[in-house]
Amino acid sequence: MKQLFSYERVAKRIANIRLTKECDPIKNILSIIKKAFIYGGVEKKEFEDVECSLSIKNRNTLIYASCAFALLFLGMFLSTYLGTDSEALSSLRLRSRYMYLLVMFGCICVTFIAKKIPPKRNILILITCYLFLTGLFFFAIWCGTCNQPYYPSVTFCVFLVALPFLIIDRPYRVSLYLLCVCFVYIFCSNRYKEAELFRLDALNCICFLYLSTAVGLLTQNLRISEAVQKRLIEKQRDMDPLSGLLNKSAFERYICQAVEKKGHGVFLIMDIDDFKLVNDTYGHVYGDAAIRMVADCIKKVFASPAVTGRFGGDEFVVYLDEDTDKNSIAERISTLQSLIRTTAELPSREASITVSIGVRRINSHDTNYIKILDHADKALYRSKRLGKNRFSFSNEED
Ligand code: GH3
Ligand code: MG
Repeated sequence: MKQLFSYERVAKRIANIRLTKECDPIKNILSIIKKAFIYGGVEKKEFEDVECSLSIKNRNTLIYASCAFALLFLGMFLSTYLGTDSEALSSLRLRSRYMYLLVMFGCICVTFIAKKIPPKRNILILITCYLFLTGLFFFAIWCGTCNQPYYPSVTFCVFLVALPFLIIDRPYRVSLYLLCVCFVYIFCSNRYKEAELFRLDALNCICFLYLSTAVGLLTQNLRISEAVQKRLIEKQRDMDPLSGLLNKSAFERYICQAVEKKGHGVFLIMDIDDFKLVNDTYGHVYGDAAIRMVADCIKKVFASPAVTGRFGGDEFVVYLDEDTDKNSIAERISTLQSLIRTTAELPSREASITVSIGVRRINSHDTNYIKILDHADKALYRSKRLGKNRFSFSNEED
């Protein structure tokens, strides 16, 4: 007989927790630093879990920041038309005018590009973010070196500290990027400025790079761990703790949106047969393990992008976002039913766990979720009436 739960597995997990606590302290500190630079102070899996939401944040920040910078450069461009008596200043303004215009158009282009990128294209969004920052740094380097070689550059130092706030990425990547930018700046400063001014610029650059890396590491860590916490809260809100499937309210929220948007798909509702008897005969611990096992089978047969949930008690639901024909749905349901039957054998050999299922293929008459649930529910109760351990399609399809 296959065991539905195992005390050995729990004991092993406890032993593992003890082992991690006994680790070398130096190794611990090194691993904390490594984690802070690579994954923003969270675990690799946690970071990967929130990458998508970070990328949406990056995209929104990019759209907002590129608009704000476009307006800033428009203002600076217009200000060059204000009259001045100083000849040196007016020639400087003339040179800057076209650069402001160029950077402003660059920012407008970034706004349009960022709006066009789908929110889930993490890498594309990150590349656009870095390109945007590179454009702004290029402007700051040009301002502080070849355009004004007789003054220490202020814009670059301000940008060095402020611009990393516009991106959320692995802290080591942001730091390496800033280091490269500083090398380019020092190279340009050496080329265009007197030795004394160059030394001052280099010193400023090192100080601000240090400041930017330290503040950046802290803020990236805070923002990444905030995203992880948010994800955890969302998971706890949406997940049924026993089965690991979506809970009723999360599932209903999802299916309502899907029906409204797409108007097609397949809805399945299933109920374990004679589950009260399983609880009464073998106890609730066994009953809980059976619920987990049924959920695992559902996850196996109806893997993502299918949406799976537990409505509470011994009721489970599945939503398939596809216009599948009747035969292939029937095939998948039969696979699920036989998987459940064979995975969970009850202690008494004659009995086993079975489920009854009601199916509704969503069509244009199903204008809302309540109607779909009602149709599927009726089909489920027909399966129960006809002797359980079977599936039925809703009336109109028979
Ligand atoms: P039917 O074939 O008609 O579905 O009969 P049934 O005995 O399964 O009846 P029903 O579906 O109404 O019973 C659901 C039972 O599920 C009632 C309750 O004891 C049990 N149950 C509900 N939630 C849990 C749970 O979280 N864990 C366990 N072990 N049992 C639960
Ligand atoms: Mg039942």
